[in-house]
Amino acid sequence: MFSSGMLFVLAGPSGAGKTTLAHHLVDKYEGTEFSVSTTTRPSRGEEIHGEDYFFVDDGEFTRRVENSYFLEWAQVHGNRYGTEGSWVRKQMARGRSVVLDIDVQGAVQVKEAMPSAVLIFVLPASSDVLCNRLEQRNTDSGKTVEKRMKAAAGEVSVMGVFDYFICNDVLEKAKSGVETIFLAEKMKLQNIGWPVQALDYHGGYVNGLDFWRGKRVVVSSGPTREMIDEVRFVSNRSSGLMGVSLAEAFLAAGAEVVLVSGPAFNMKPPGPVRLVKVGSANDMLAALKEEVLCADLLVMAAAIADFTPVSAASGKLKRSQGGISIALEPTPDITVSLAPPCPVLSFALEYGETAVERARSKMKRKGAVAIFLNMGNRPSEGMETACNSGTILFASSEKSVEIPFGSKKFVALGIAAALGREMENSDNG
Ligand code: ADP
Ligand code: 5GP
Repeated sequence: MFSSGMLFVLAGPSGAGKTTLAHHLVDKYEGTEFSVSTTTRPSRGEEIHGEDYFFVDDGEFTRRVENSYFLEWAQVHGNRYGTEGSWVRKQMARGRSVVLDIDVQGAVQVKEAMPSAVLIFVLPASSDVLCNRLEQRNTDSGKTVEKRMKAAAGEVSVMGVFDYFICNDVLEKAKSGVETIFLAEKMKLQNIGWPVQALDYHGGYVNGLDFWRGKRVVVSSGPTREMIDEVRFVSNRSSGLMGVSLAEAFLAAGAEVVLVSGPAFNMKPPGPVRLVKVGSANDMLAALKEEVLCADLLVMAAAIADFTPVSAASGKLKRSQGGISIALEPTPDITVSLAPPCPVLSFALEYGETAVERARSKMKRKGAVAIFLNMGNRPSEGMETACNSGTILFASSEKSVEIPFGSKKFVALGIAAALGREMENSDNG
């Protein structure tokens, strides 16, 4: 259905072989781009601006940091280096994969900002080999080599954050290692969306997705955390998977997607989706206020905690203090407080026979154009599971669309398609 490009990050100490392996991937696989970094380091003479690096002065680099130009940036061996964020996302949205050759601090930042990025740590067979390669590369003085060897120990200690390890001993083996990672990641469903071959079995199911092409969709997702002290919190059961699946579905339909997510197990949207992480219901409200300004749709899939402690204790409450009572107050109704300038798709988890009436009245209260109702009493679906099913109800008519049982990915596609069809009809009518 769509093939989002992937982001591969090769990191490790200077001299480990990142550049060699990064260029190998780009040369070997069509549709793969090397990201040219921006640096404050002076050019080494033979280096070409725009090809090896974009060379800028300190002032310009600072301006770009302030304007959130970088996906990541770090001070490395006395100079600053950074990766342009919008260029990376643009390539990925076009289905092109991007390869970064950056230091470990930058790689950690990329994982934070884009959790679906694939982090590969590269290291030669021993520290002696690393030292020899740095000396033989001949781009650094003896003193610089010594400095880089010292830095290597600190860089290796961050390896646990990475997804893969490549020992760059025999180069051909290391090359085939990165190829294996690349090919396996390309087959991951997370990076494919809904494969076209699977659509054969559900003819017509996705009519309506086209409506979202070029639109801007904001999806709220996951639970919120209302802090009791600095460690404990009140929250809701929510894995965040439905929200991520909706973000994927609207992306697959051609929309530009922002995912505003509370702390969830599942916060790994495809790379082109911009991820905004929030904590409490109030944080969620503040983030959404900004994001909905030029949105075409707000999808309120987040399981926002309805109550928050009146005040949070500082530090960590001690068991030895004995029992405690926590006064809770309601959190703001986010959709109502936002009064968003765009249509809203709401969600209702209901129990019992009057579920449809209650969902309809919730849709009205929230001013939503549609609401997805799922029943809380069905085993193996809904909260904290991989599957779902439900009914989408519309404000403009008595009509409803049943979304049959399937993975949340499949259900999300059905929701995006049904809403697209309904909005297309109301635009035309
Ligand atoms: P990095 O980008 O991590 O600083 P490079 O790719 O520039 O590292 O590699 C450092 C040096 O080691 C280069 O001269 C490169 O040609 C050489 N090199 C890389 N991989 C190997 C390998 N497996 N065996 C021998 N030399 C290698
Ligand atoms: P050099 O100055 O030798 O080209 O690179 C020095 C180090 O900076 C290398 O370890 C390289 O991976 C790292 N580096 C290059 N570009 C970037 C970048 O955009 N971001 C970060 N964080 N590191 C980078």
